[in-house]
Amino acid sequence: MKIKKRSKPLPLRKLDVIIPRLSPQFPRLPEMKEEAKKQGRGYSGEIKVDYHLEILASRYTLLDDVYLHNNSKNFQIDSLIAGNHGIFIIETKNYMGTIIFDSILKQLIRDDGNVESGFNYPITQTETQKFHLRNWLLKHRLTHIPIYYFIAIADPTTIIKVDGDREAISKVVAHAARIPGMIIEKDQELAQAGKPKLPDYQIGKMILHECGVYDMDIMGQFGLTCRNLLPGVFCPGCGIRGMQRIHGGWICRKCRHKSYYAHVKEVHDYVLLNGSITNTECMWLLGLNSRSTATRVLQKSGLIYLKEPKCWVKKTRIY
Ligand SMILES: [Zn+2]
Repeated sequence: MKIKKRSKPLPLRKLDVIIPRLSPQFPRLPEMKEEAKKQGRGYSGEIKVDYHLEILASRYTLLDDVYLHNNSKNFQIDSLIAGNHGIFIIETKNYMGTIIFDSILKQLIRDDGNVESGFNYPITQTETQKFHLRNWLLKHRLTHIPIYYFIAIADPTTIIKVDGDREAISKVVAHAARIPGMIIEKDQELAQAGKPKLPDYQIGKMILHECGVYDMDIMGQFGLTCRNLLPGVFCPGCGIRGMQRIHGGWICRKCRHKSYYAHVKEVHDYVLLNGSITNTECMWLLGLNSRSTATRVLQKSGLIYLKEPKCWVKKTRIY
């Protein structure tokens, strides 16, 4: 059973909100677009891998995007599978072209046909996750649980090459479609070796209970404050910014699309970036000139009001 489903990562959601609200002259805009592209590529790779792992949901406990805290360190696992006799960590990689695992120098080289680029060695990265997960389990009195990892190559057209120990790499690296079979095989191997049956659902629940949400201060990282953002309501029809307020709703200046709820997304996006929204900020964001309209809009937006410090926040706050 899958007990934790993937959603779009917060840093990527933030980038998607910020980029259309920046002036085209903002100097770091190209860098931000590049970052959004990179993160989007990672996310779409994870979705592709989820599709293949889904087949395991009938016999094991699956958790997407596990983010745990242990000994003042946070660690993130793309997919975690609590099997019948072991726990499996899946790290997803989504690269175009050819990737070369250099098992001697412990590096990953990607060749897209034009340029060779170097990346963190996924095996070292996943070994670290395994180390943290083992410590986390020990802290929760779960000892002697076998942990294995696999590196899933999301795109079936990516060519995988090895420089060095081909056999060792082939045991842990494969295209996503092969990963479920490799997990089942390993789990059965553990059963044959006499490893005890695990309470996989209980272990999964325990992990789920302690899972946090990975976030990044994207605004701070790119030297932005909400003052750098351009205000206005985006048209759900044609995508341009600056819908006009009319009798409790909005109309697009360009395509004449009408909407009653176009502002709800804008308010929530603002809270995503800023953590909260005040009445004044709402007036600025939506281009309202009446305080009472802003209050009414906020009351209907599914947020809750905090008397101190006089602002609106999401019902469930993310720490
Ligand atoms: Zn429009």
